Amino acid sequence: MILRRVRSLMPQAQRGLLLLFAVIATASVFASCVYAEPAPLEMRLYAIDCGRLDYPNMDGFSDTDDYAGQTGSLVVPCFLVRHGSEWLLWDTGVGDRIAALPNGEVKQEARFSLRRTLASQLTSIGLVPDSIRYVALSHLHSDHGGNIGLFPHAVFLIGAAELPWARSLPTPEGVEAPLIAPLDHAKMESFDKDRDVFGDGTVRILKAPGHTPGHCMLLLKLPKTGPILITGDLFHQRRSLKGHLVPRVNTNRADTLASINRFEGLVNATGARVIIPHERQDFDSLPAFPGFLE
Ligand SMILES: [Zn+2]
Repeated sequence: MILRRVRSLMPQAQRGLLLLFAVIATASVFASCVYAEPAPLEMRLYAIDCGRLDYPNMDGFSDTDDYAGQTGSLVVPCFLVRHGSEWLLWDTGVGDRIAALPNGEVKQEARFSLRRTLASQLTSIGLVPDSIRYVALSHLHSDHGGNIGLFPHAVFLIGAAELPWARSLPTPEGVEAPLIAPLDHAKMESFDKDRDVFGDGTVRILKAPGHTPGHCMLLLKLPKTGPILITGDLFHQRRSLKGHLVPRVNTNRADTLASINRFEGLVNATGARVIIPHERQDFDSLPAFPGFLE
C-alpha cells in the first residue's frame, strides 16, 4: 500500500525536481548577464615635457649649502592620467607662451624654456584642453601653474591652504599673480584632507606641505605597473631625497621634514615606484611621450 503510494508520487516529484532545475538554470543565466564581471578599468600615465629650468646657481635648493655655487638644470614634466573615459592632468608646466621665446625667459634666478607647447602635445594624442576634466596642481609655483589659463572648463584640484597663500600680498616668491588669476573664475575643488579623485583608490592626492602650505603628492595605482608616487617638489633631485635637503624657498622646514617622513612611510607600505618630477633621470625612465605606462 505504502509502496504503491510512493510510486504514484515519484513522477510528480521528478516533475518538481525538473522544474526546480529549470528555474535555477534560468536564474543563473540571467544572473550571469546582469552581474557579469565589469571590464577592467583602463588607466594610462603619460609624462609630457612641459619645460626646462636652467640655474646658474642651485644654492636655493638646500638651506644647508649643499649646492652652493653649482649650476644645474631641472626638467619640468606634466603628468596626464587616463582613468577609464576621463582625464586628469597633474601640473601644467612653465606655460605655452614661453615656447615662442627663442631664448626662453629669465626669472626667479633661472632660465625658463619650452620646446613644444602642452596644447600641441595634447593634440598629438587626439585631445583638446576641454578633454581634461580635472587639472590637479601639486602647488602654485609658476613652473607648475604656467598653463592654468589653458583649461577654462576644467575642475581644478588644489590643496585648501595653497590658494590663500598664493594670493597673499606681497606675492610669494615663485608665484606669478597673472598665471594664477584664471583661478578666480575656475571651477575649484579644494581639499583639507587627502583626496581620492575617482573614489576607487587609483588616483589619490596626498598632502605633503612644507615646500608651500598646500603642497601635495600624487599616488597612482596603475593596473599593470602598480603603485607610482609622484613627489611634486617635496624633492627636486635624487640628491635631495638622499640628503633630506630642504630648499631655502620652502615655506616651512618642520612641515617639509614631516612630509618627508610621510613619504618614506608610504613608500615602505606600498612599495611604490618613486618619480621626482624635476629629476631628469626619473623623467627619462618613463616611456617617451606619446608612450605611456598602464
Ligand atoms: Zn617646481
